[in-house]
Amino acid sequence: MAKKICKLAKEDLMKEDFKKYTKYMDKPKYICTKCGHAANEEENLCKPKKI
Ligand SMILES: [Zn+2]
Repeated sequence: MAKKICKLAKEDLMKEDFKKYTKYMDKPKYICTKCGHAANEEENLCKPKKI
């Protein structure tokens, strides 16, 4: 299952493993309308919207 950037940010895991997750958000095409995070793929967000 794909990692949800929203969930990682909420659990404060991105600080620990930031480099690992930058690959999910280096060329963002989607934004989460609920949390405001950006990601390359919609599957990484809980409420994705195409940018
Ligand atoms: Zn979200």
